[in-house]
Amino acid sequence: RLINPAKTTSTEEAFERALRPKHLDEYVGQQKIRDQLDIFIAAARSRKEALDHVLLFGPPGLGKTTLAHILAREMGVNLKQTSGPVLERPGDLAALLTNLEANDVLFIDEIHRLSPVVEEILYPALEDYQIDIMIGEGPGARSVKLDLQPFTLVGATTRAGMLTNPLRDRFGIVSRLEFYTPDELARIVARSAGLLNMPFDEAGCLEIARRSRGTPRIANRLLRRVRDYAQVKAQGVITATVADAALGMLDVDKIGLDPMDRRLLEAIIHRFNGGPVGLDNVAAAIGEERDTIEDVLEPYLIQQGYIQRTPRGRIATLNTYQHFGLVAPSHLSQ
Ligand code: ADP
Repeated sequence: RLINPAKTTSTEEAFERALRPKHLDEYVGQQKIRDQLDIFIAAARSRKEALDHVLLFGPPGLGKTTLAHILAREMGVNLKQTSGPVLERPGDLAALLTNLEANDVLFIDEIHRLSPVVEEILYPALEDYQIDIMIGEGPGARSVKLDLQPFTLVGATTRAGMLTNPLRDRFGIVSRLEFYTPDELARIVARSAGLLNMPFDEAGCLEIARRSRGTPRIANRLLRRVRDYAQVKAQGVITATVADAALGMLDVDKIGLDPMDRRLLEAIIHRFNGGPVGLDNVAAAIGEERDTIEDVLEPYLIQQGYIQRTPRGRIATLNTYQHFGLVAPSHLSQ
């Protein structure tokens, strides 16, 4: 699926890495977080200490991994990367932690998916730079305390609400990443096009930006597709006309919704009379997983006012009916 920012293939990963900003001043948008981190980094560096633990949350593709790498680089330390589901046993995490050098960054993606036994050994590591590990088995087993180098944990999650309280409380810096504005995304597209040596004009970048669901990963992905189209049909130049034609061909509509978004919205309108409808029912109706709907599809649709979440379930809004050229029920249009 083109706009699913959660799923990447290995060629896409290589492409993404090439476009990833390396310094804080190349990182577009998220001004509040950047200002905060700028100060925290400068302070930690001048004290020669590890940066406080950082929790980054927000929908996929908004730049959490990128920011973790930038933090390590700005601190002048190494970054070790892993993810919640990969760390199956306490020993997996202990091995990573004991290999860190002073002030290094440990980046754990999808940190809400850590297993409870792994999470348990993370607590003393975060608080006192110590871990308790069990050596041996059976009656001869004993617990050994190991000292760690001071380090910074950077945790990323799509939903902060899914973290346990004790884990969340151990982060000194908690930042929520916001969707990007079309202007910010246009700057990201222009930067990427420059790195890829593709000729473009401003309107072309803005057209891609407007249709990227507020998400840099999608903007770069759409740029890549538009590039192919431009090379074959328009001497390689990315203009608004070229972007519009290419994105139309990819079935990304004028506001950046793709067939899966439209199916979700249309299901709410036609099958459930505009809602309210519960997540499970709508998931079954469109054959999509609950988590994908909650993490990937809904956040942008809610932010843009195409879905409202009420205590009784999801409802379509006046905007939604208008987007599909439908007459809204009278209680919405008043
Ligand atoms: P996440 O970890 O939140 O899923 P990533 O950090 O992997 O997202 O970002 C996806 C891609 O989007 C990166 O390869 C990077 O090129 C681009 N990107 C993300 N945030 C920014 C930004 N603020 N400025 C420029 N490019 C960005």
